[in-house]
Amino acid sequence: MHEFSLIAKYFTRAPQHTVLGVGDDCALIAPAAGMQLAVTTDTLVEAVHFFKGTPARALGHKALAVNLSDLAAMGAVPRWATLAITLPAVDEAWLADFAEGLFALADEHSVDLIGGDTTRGPLAFTLTLMGEVPVGAALTRDGAKPGDDIWLTGDVGGPALAVAERYGRLSLSQWDVASDAIASAHKKLDMPTPRVAFGLALHGIARAAIDVSDGLAQDLGHIVARSSMHAPCSAVIDFAALPLHAAARAAYGSRTTEVAGVAVSAVLAGGDEYELAFTAASDKRTAIEQIARDLGVPCTRIGRIENGGTGVVVMGLDGQPMRFGTGFNHFASNS
Ligand SMILES: [Mg+2]
Repeated sequence: MHEFSLIAKYFTRAPQHTVLGVGDDCALIAPAAGMQLAVTTDTLVEAVHFFKGTPARALGHKALAVNLSDLAAMGAVPRWATLAITLPAVDEAWLADFAEGLFALADEHSVDLIGGDTTRGPLAFTLTLMGEVPVGAALTRDGAKPGDDIWLTGDVGGPALAVAERYGRLSLSQWDVASDAIASAHKKLDMPTPRVAFGLALHGIARAAIDVSDGLAQDLGHIVARSSMHAPCSAVIDFAALPLHAAARAAYGSRTTEVAGVAVSAVLAGGDEYELAFTAASDKRTAIEQIARDLGVPCTRIGRIENGGTGVVVMGLDGQPMRFGTGFNHFASNS
């Protein structure tokens, strides 16, 4: 089957808010008056960003989800996507499953797929996502101010443990982690839920925001670094306050310090979370708790922005700064 008919067969849907979709040399889009375009792109490569043998449906979901998470962190409404797929060989069943995963999530967020390309080569895909945000209202990384609370949606630590388990580096069941917690960690790795509605609800509330894709401590470091361009600041995180994924909580409570240490690394340095971390003035606490209730998404106050200092400090249960490994980010690079 030719490239064009593959795109037509699996990736053509009637667009909802596009001037001209798939089928011409370019697509045409028109942002609404008073809106800016927010644009993000992510490439996922087999054996680097996902494991060989990951179900196609999950890959279709994740290709869009990681980009939705970036728009969420900017407070942008998702609108349009383009997709480039590189395949070792044409496998129609695989493409059908990939498209199903992609469009299930696209439909949930009213995203139009407006163009793409298919090529032959090692399995990889690049999705570019565009969204709309009112002029000047995007949630950037540079707005944190001393005294701000630091908040985190959902929980952390699950996906990194799932990654380590798939590498055969550990066995969560041998650590007495319950089977539903193990399944949940693997599901979060394969099928993350981007916090789009939460990001949109943070307009007028959050001062700085980022999505947690490379590890909580590292990503908060980006907020501190960007915000420090205006006035030097640092982040202090209270480890005891962190919302741990059930798998990470079980491992952290383990008998051995080695296992607990792995859990700490997964929580603080594990990627693939796609949760939102943001800062807000302390007079926004009630509003944030209300958003969390309305959306049914947990949101936890995990620390504060301090005047001066540098970077991100995590205070342990003993009141001392914690040390933690970073071996879980970009998980294939240390395999
Ligand atoms: Mg991001």
